[in-house]
Amino acid sequence: MTPQPNPQVGAAVKAADRAHVFHSWSAQELIDPPAIAGAEGSRFWDYEGNRYLDFTSGLVYTNIGYQHPKVVAAIQEQAATMTTFAPAYAVEARSEAARLIAERTPGDLDKIFFTNGGADAVEHAVRMARLHTGRPKVLSAYRSYHGGTEQAVNITGDPRRWASDSGSAGVVRFWAPFLYRSRFYAENERQECERALRHLEDTIAFEGPQTVAAIILETIPGTAGIMVPPPGYLAGVREICDRHGIVFILDEVMAGFGRTGEWFAVDHFEGVVPDLMTFAKGVNSGYVPLGGVAISAAVAETFARRPYPGGLTYSGHPLACGAAVATIRVMEEEGIVEQAARLGAEVIGPGLAELAERHPSVGEVRGVGMFWALELVRNKETREPLVPYNATGEANAPMAAFGAAAKKRGLWPFINMNRTHVVPPCNITDAEAKEGLAALDEALTEADAYVS
Ligand code: PLP
Repeated sequence: MTPQPNPQVGAAVKAADRAHVFHSWSAQELIDPPAIAGAEGSRFWDYEGNRYLDFTSGLVYTNIGYQHPKVVAAIQEQAATMTTFAPAYAVEARSEAARLIAERTPGDLDKIFFTNGGADAVEHAVRMARLHTGRPKVLSAYRSYHGGTEQAVNITGDPRRWASDSGSAGVVRFWAPFLYRSRFYAENERQECERALRHLEDTIAFEGPQTVAAIILETIPGTAGIMVPPPGYLAGVREICDRHGIVFILDEVMAGFGRTGEWFAVDHFEGVVPDLMTFAKGVNSGYVPLGGVAISAAVAETFARRPYPGGLTYSGHPLACGAAVATIRVMEEEGIVEQAARLGAEVIGPGLAELAERHPSVGEVRGVGMFWALELVRNKETREPLVPYNATGEANAPMAAFGAAAKKRGLWPFINMNRTHVVPPCNITDAEAKEGLAALDEALTEADAYVS
């Protein structure tokens, strides 16, 4: 049954939320979470009857949209046959999900360790790398996001970690490529790639290669601004890892499962195969919490005759795995990965490039598939961000005005710092994509007013 608008129910939902729900990443008394009545496909609606086109895919996870009937039916069927069973047993939903995932991951990433989401996948990948190498340190990039648990947030190279950074024992951060904001060092992608690889080599040399267990990167950093790495960078990191016996971890929690127009973002970079690859979100469109680590033959071998000292009560939960099996089948049947690639290349990408030409507040457009960011600036020449990092209150007025204008036009935008990310469901229609672009166009006029 599709929930319908009802302001009275909405008020009660909101009151209970305000009284009892402790929200992520928020000062509890400074927020006003909207009460959502329902969602279907690429849209959701509130209890007042306002409908929104979702250009956020939730938190970039509803890759097949909300309430896909085949996946909802599969979850109901799974609940009816086997809602849950502990991870130490072989059950159909779990083994079938692992098989379908392993068939799609690159190279020899053929064993799947299931987690409840992305952060714990990162925690386990790092732990496997430390156990596999016997080394302590992990190298991670600034401008990255790897999750909100203690270890994952410390590995994260995002200013939000400052509030809880416990000193990051064993974590060393480096600068991955980002040409738009590396202009003092590099003038083109090739130079930026060389700079970033030399810098990584230097970092390893000064840390001592024999102390480095892993290098972790998002294949295409998402939360930090959707920066597609230049050609040769990931292959270069792979080569550095091989030379020093370092485990290469690619985090595909956000970029995986069709988001970039390939099953995994790493598929855009020929010949690159990590040793460990984390996933979550799109694996089942976030319908039931699920994440995991895809493990190479070499790392799996370490734990062939020696126990892996880690696990989770809900590892490979049948309901979540049943949803993953159905989601992957729907993605195949409906050609959703191909659709994301086509929409990105033919509609979203060109549409955003055209907006950048007309709007003085758009400094750069970057992305691939259904994974795009617009970097908003005060001045295209100086590239000064439209708002400072982590801006709140008056300092955030330009982004707040942009966001309010988009919502007024029926578009729910993804806003992070001075950027808006364009990350709708991968199976959005052409008409919806154009509708969203038109709303963005109008909303960007608000941001233009702050350009100097
Ligand atoms: N890794 C990446 C690349 C992510 O984007 C995220 C979440 O956005 C995470 C890890 C953490 O995932 P979760 O929120 O499911 O713990």
